[in-house]
Amino acid sequence: MDFQPTAKMERIRSEIRESLAAALPDDWQGSGFLPMDVRPEHMELARSLDRRLAAKRLLAPAWPEEFGGRGLSPFEQFALYEELGMALAPRLTTISVDLVGPVLILHGSDEQRRQHLPAIASEAAVWCQGFSEPSAGSDLTSLKTRAERKGDVYLVTGHKLWTSMAHISEWMILLARTGAEDSRGRGLSLFLLPTNSPGVTIRPIYDATNEHMLNEVFFEDVQIPVEQRIGEENKGWTYATSLLQYERGDALFTGQFRRLLDDLMRLARSNGFARSAAAAASALAEHEIDWQIGRLLTLRVVGLHAAGKLPDRESSQAKLFMSEAYQRLGVTAQRLAGQHGHLTHQDARTALGGRIVQALLSSTTATIIAGTSEIQRTIIATRGLGLPRG
Ligand SMILES: Cc1cc2nc3c(=O)[nH]c(=O)nc-3n(C[C@H](O)[C@H](O)[C@H](O)COP(=O)(O)OP(=O)(O)OC[C@H]3O[C@@H](n4cnc5c(N)ncnc54)[C@H](O)[C@@H]3O)c2cc1C
Repeated sequence: MDFQPTAKMERIRSEIRESLAAALPDDWQGSGFLPMDVRPEHMELARSLDRRLAAKRLLAPAWPEEFGGRGLSPFEQFALYEELGMALAPRLTTISVDLVGPVLILHGSDEQRRQHLPAIASEAAVWCQGFSEPSAGSDLTSLKTRAERKGDVYLVTGHKLWTSMAHISEWMILLARTGAEDSRGRGLSLFLLPTNSPGVTIRPIYDATNEHMLNEVFFEDVQIPVEQRIGEENKGWTYATSLLQYERGDALFTGQFRRLLDDLMRLARSNGFARSAAAAASALAEHEIDWQIGRLLTLRVVGLHAAGKLPDRESSQAKLFMSEAYQRLGVTAQRLAGQHGHLTHQDARTALGGRIVQALLSSTTATIIAGTSEIQRTIIATRGLGLPRG
């Protein structure tokens, strides 16, 4: 596969860079928690950036033109993610564009596509993902939230956990049980639900960095019209699995990794670290190699999408490698920056606007979100290497 950038890809990159430069302040440091920056003081900027990109059809450039995209290839979509990451851009449409859109394009009804795809690509509608529950994360098919059909509606009762951005989302893509209690993956259905529906209660969870991105969501007899179910009843796990492969394979990390590495190299060159420049150079060289490998693994996933294939273990390989490599980079950054690297953005003496401590803490979640490293290894072992399940 040839991953050399084409002239078209370079043109898109410079268009994206122009939009980012126009929207972000010169000294922008973001929150360090990409791609979902929900710091309240960044909200207005995040929304205006999403809308600016949407107005130029750059929010979902790989989507068909009729749905607000530009009909470009997944490589241009990758270029967008990478540029956003490098600019530390706050982005609220991660779940909308990366997960919900592809699932609707693949499995949604015509009416669902007409209603939701342009609202995402052109108006930057914000979505969240209601999958995980208190006792169903890795073992997602054991989830208990129930959607009981009553005539033309489903009545939903249950409890979701770790729902990123639920408090600022307009819609949720919800996985709920429609089959018998012990039906596992054969009894799940996927729904589209407005988060302001009566019976929905959203409670905040503050993470180790003291940010509020995560939530728990409670459902009490929440009504969902039948036409807001994606595809067939009890086939939701098939659709959800294709969504998870998008979530795992996308370019969440390559841009932000590159930016942190570039900033650390710049600091090392200007002797900005407590450690010697030589020690820093040898540490950072390892991470440069990591980045090159992780980017190629990610591009392989993009290449499969571009060839019209649905990636499988390839997404898990990219996600596993890049999330663990990003954690290693966070540790090196903190070692190099010494005490300044421990200070948050609220302290003027901090290194890189507080991004180092933020990267270190938030990177711990990278190996959990979208399936833990253990789960990715199991996928690679069983679906990739053909090994038996333990
Ligand atoms: C920052 C963040 C954002 C998130 N956002 C969302 C969101 O928006 N929507 C959503 O639905 N979910 C979200 N999640 C939840 C995430 O998908 C789950 O946390 C993840 O799937 C792990 O599930 P769990 O937390 O229940 O851990 P568990 O599944 O209980 O796992 C605990 C430990 O046991 C290990 N383990 C479990 N099963 C196996 C096995 N079969 N083999 C080997 N090891 C195993 C795991 O690897 C892990 O180390 C988010 C999580 C984080 C951290």
